[in-house]
Amino acid sequence: MSDPIPFIDLAAQRRHIGAALDAAVARVMDHCGFILGPEVERFEADLKAFCGARHAISCASGTDALALVLMAKGLRPGQAVLVPAFTFCATAEVVAWLGATPVFVDVEEETFNLCPASLEQGIATARERGLDPVAVMPVDLYGRPVDYDRIEPICAREGLWMLTDAAQSFGAAYKGRPVGTIGLATATSFFPSKPLGAYGDAGAVFTEDDDLAEAMISLRMHGAGRERYDHVRIGMNGRMDAMQAAILVEKLKIFGEEIAARRRIAARYDALLEGVVRTPAIDPDAPSVWAQYTIRIPDGGREAFRAALQQAGVPTAIHYPKPLNRQPAYAHYPSAGNGLPVSERLAEEVVSLPMHAYLDEAVQDRIVAAIRAAL
Ligand SMILES: *Cc1c(COP(=O)(O)O)cnc(C)c1O
Repeated sequence: MSDPIPFIDLAAQRRHIGAALDAAVARVMDHCGFILGPEVERFEADLKAFCGARHAISCASGTDALALVLMAKGLRPGQAVLVPAFTFCATAEVVAWLGATPVFVDVEEETFNLCPASLEQGIATARERGLDPVAVMPVDLYGRPVDYDRIEPICAREGLWMLTDAAQSFGAAYKGRPVGTIGLATATSFFPSKPLGAYGDAGAVFTEDDDLAEAMISLRMHGAGRERYDHVRIGMNGRMDAMQAAILVEKLKIFGEEIAARRRIAARYDALLEGVVRTPAIDPDAPSVWAQYTIRIPDGGREAFRAALQQAGVPTAIHYPKPLNRQPAYAHYPSAGNGLPVSERLAEEVVSLPMHAYLDEAVQDRIVAAIRAAL
């Protein structure tokens, strides 16, 4: 067996910009402003410039970013939020935190993203249950933006606001509209394995709405008012720490190049795997930033396939092995229509391959050879 290949090679990135990262962290340790402070302000300014959003508010995680929006909107029991079933649990978790009801919606076979027809069924399901559907949280799964032109008219007609869960897609754009500027607000994550990853937990929320931004800045710091120890809302401790901001300022400088590298690597996977396995569909209107490169292994063959790859030193991951409607903590929440067949099938078939900006051709060739051998 040859050397194991990393699924995401964070060490390669560190070799590339390690000196700048060390200096950035050292500056924080020297000035001792560990909470908020100049690095956080700088990072927020850089984020705004990067995606063109009016407000960029940093926070402690992607989960907190989602929660800040829902808290600022006063989400409450009796209200429903439509969420895809095929996503990471945090998307639904934050809705449940506030006592509101997540209603699970199916996704589409080709895009892995929210299905407009199922969304309409989910809205009807919520109303049949006596709930008030107020919002939808589309997820740009694996880094590919949702087809928003098919979601926004439904929101407009049904009076729903939209919080986009862009935890995996920061840096992408939909028909030229940068992620961060779509919907009432956008939440993203800088969890280390996301395309723009910190060295710990961190996140951010974007909005064009001044009042919402003001509320979220207050909420992330215990509902602070204008005076110190004046609390005007029930908030949380949801600030980004200065070390993470210092690291992210450096990483954002090379993020554009890293996205370009991910896209080259994904295109090479597409070419090398064509006719071998079912590769992700691509859409020039919604180009992915490839948080994951995810193929499909149908007919119950996935576990044997993964084991064969593991044997060849090639790690894989499953995002996600169960749709949320099958998770013990979430199974009692309503689902749209008569079930979520696409989410159920995808959960059994998807496999993510090693993907990061520093994956070289020799390693990628080894991965592809192992895939051919495994089949
Ligand atoms: C990672 C992720 C989150 C949560 O982000 P954290 O920073 O880990 O809290 C939320 N939604 C999706 C779709 C994610 O992938």
